[in-house]
Amino acid sequence: MGLWFLFVVLIALCSGCGLRGKRGEPASEIPRVVDLSYPFDESTIYWPTSKGFQHEKTAFGRTPAGYWYSSFNYSANEHGGTHMDAPIHFAEGKESVDQIPIQRHIGPGVKIDVVEQASRDRDYRLSADDVRDWESDHERIPRGAIVLVQTGWGRYWHDRTKYLGSQKPGDASDLHFPGIAQDAAEFLAKERGVSMVGIDTASLDYGASKDFIVHQILSEGGIPGLENVAALDQLPDTGFLVLALPMKISGGSGAPCRIVALLDQHAN
Ligand SMILES: [Zn+2]
Repeated sequence: MGLWFLFVVLIALCSGCGLRGKRGEPASEIPRVVDLSYPFDESTIYWPTSKGFQHEKTAFGRTPAGYWYSSFNYSANEHGGTHMDAPIHFAEGKESVDQIPIQRHIGPGVKIDVVEQASRDRDYRLSADDVRDWESDHERIPRGAIVLVQTGWGRYWHDRTKYLGSQKPGDASDLHFPGIAQDAAEFLAKERGVSMVGIDTASLDYGASKDFIVHQILSEGGIPGLENVAALDQLPDTGFLVLALPMKISGGSGAPCRIVALLDQHAN
C-alpha cells in the first residue's frame, strides 16, 4: 500500500476522471460526483433490533438578540442508514472506525451487478464465480479496490418491509434480502486484496444469515464494509473513484458514512 496506493489514486483522478485535458493541459471540468449516501431522518432504515436515528431540536429561530440560530441533538445506533462497518464489528482486536488507515477510504471503484439474479431470488448471494465472470468481462479487480455490489434493493429503500423482507418490526430473525456469499468474500479478501466492500442492502451477509460469515471474513482481513449504499444504478461498472468517509467515532464499531463516486464527466 502506501505510496503505491496513492499513485494509483492520483492516476485514476488525473487520467480517469477528466482532471487533465486530452493533450495533458489542465482541464476546465471537474469530475462528475455521485452521492452514494442516503439522508438520515426518522424514516432511515436501521437493523430491526437497533435504535434508529433521533434528531431533537434544541433551537430553531430568532434569538432575542435578533440573529438566527438553529441546533439539534442526535443519536442512533452506529449500524443504520448508509454506514461503515469497522473491522472490530466482527473481529476481536481489529481496528475501530477511527483506526482504519485513511488510505483505505479512497480507492478505484468496481461495481458488480447481480440485479437480475436478486430479482429472481431475494435470498441471492454474490458468488466467487460472479466475481470471476465480472473480471472476464472487464478487468482484474485491482488491489485496493472499493467493490460495490448492486442487488437492485435500493428501489425498496422507501419500503422497509420490502427492503428487509420481513413483516415484523423489532424482529431480525426472519429477514430476506440478497447479500454476498462466503466464497466471494474469501476471493475478494484473500485473492484480490480489496480495500473495502459495499452493498445496497442492510447487510453484507444475506438477510437469512445466522453466522454473518462475510462480516467475519472481511473483519478478520481488516476490510471495512459499507451497507445501505445508495444510487448504485448511477454508476458504471468500472472507471470511477470512491471516497467513503465515516464519522470518526473513537472506538466505534462503525459509523454513518458519506460516500461519493467521482466519474469522468463524459462516462455513461
Ligand atoms: Zn453495519
